[in-house]
Amino acid sequence: MSAPSSSVAELLAAARADADRTVDLRRRLHRTPEIGLQLPRTQATVLEALGDLPIELTTGTSTTSVVGVLRGARPGPTYLLRGDMDALPVREDTGLTFASEVPGAMHACGHDTHMAMLVGAARLLAERRDALAGQVVFMVQPGEEGFHGARYMLEEGLLDVVPEAPVSGAFALHISTMWRTGTINVRPGPVMAAADHFRITLRGRGGHASTPHLTADPVPVAAEIILALQAMVTRRVDVFDPAVVTVGHVAAGSANNIIPETAFLEGTIRTLSAHRRADTVAAVERVATHVAAAHDLTAEFTRVEGYPVTVNDAAVAAQVGATAATLLGGQASATMPVPLMGAEDFSYVLERVPGAMAFLGACPPDLEPESAPGNHSNLVVFDEDALPAGVALYAQMALQALAG
Ligand SMILES: [Zn+2]
Repeated sequence: MSAPSSSVAELLAAARADADRTVDLRRRLHRTPEIGLQLPRTQATVLEALGDLPIELTTGTSTTSVVGVLRGARPGPTYLLRGDMDALPVREDTGLTFASEVPGAMHACGHDTHMAMLVGAARLLAERRDALAGQVVFMVQPGEEGFHGARYMLEEGLLDVVPEAPVSGAFALHISTMWRTGTINVRPGPVMAAADHFRITLRGRGGHASTPHLTADPVPVAAEIILALQAMVTRRVDVFDPAVVTVGHVAAGSANNIIPETAFLEGTIRTLSAHRRADTVAAVERVATHVAAAHDLTAEFTRVEGYPVTVNDAAVAAQVGATAATLLGGQASATMPVPLMGAEDFSYVLERVPGAMAFLGACPPDLEPESAPGNHSNLVVFDEDALPAGVALYAQMALQALAG
């Protein structure tokens, strides 16, 4: 076996040599985005791209997921690499030559790059089966953008796809323009937030705007609840275990001289621990129902459960950082000082097995990470020069886990 540093250099060189194929696949996927859990065209493209490799492929029953298993030369544990498949309901305005050809849909979160990098890593790993003691599982999931695609795959037995060796470690990369191109950014512990959606319907008694005492007006009560929620966050939530509560949608009334019967509020709750999550959801309900009751109204509270907190295993996160530094140079590997308050359904996988999610910087060189259009923007452009770094990191994480 060659020294680790030279084999790592060789891996990156191989990823770079294969960059044209990675970019070609990425662009084909970018042109034909699909949204949600049923992505037949995307699935067909992924299956075709993996089809030439010595990988056992299965497809989901409830969704268009793809699971690939690459068996190494010797037995050993099973390591999972995740890429997501779905696009967003955004009209693309980038003007790229390979821009979306589907009206109202765009790979604005870069999941096209994730699939392309995962396929690139599969090619590198297939060529290096002799170095693998164990199995690599390629998890290609639809429905990351709020559809719980990972949960469906787990329910279908994703972690037991190799029955004699259940998945015991997992890694995912997410591309972002928030960082300089080709950098790897990771942190131990919480890396992305839990996101829960809530709805509050206030019900009072409508009437004439000139005689509020004959009504139960939901409009000032809605305003009071919005402010009471912010007071709740600052007075009830430990700043070192934070919560964000945002009311993003308020609707009530129809005319200047009518007191409406109902008012509607909805918003999001972002938290970084299971404890804070449960506590804050309960507190939002308590504030809404009790403020309403104080004014002789009722509040109907509904929580739409979102993704749990994405928690990186500390040892794996450290390993990602060290591997990125070896692979790409110390400058290219950074510890994120704080988590992102977005949410990610790879959290479901990390609840079950130790692993990590890292971020691959892909800010175009002519833009600044602070001001470049970000993920989910109609204008976001990911620098494709970052892709070989991601391909090599995916592959190296598996090679290390299955080194024997
Ligand atoms: Zn995403």
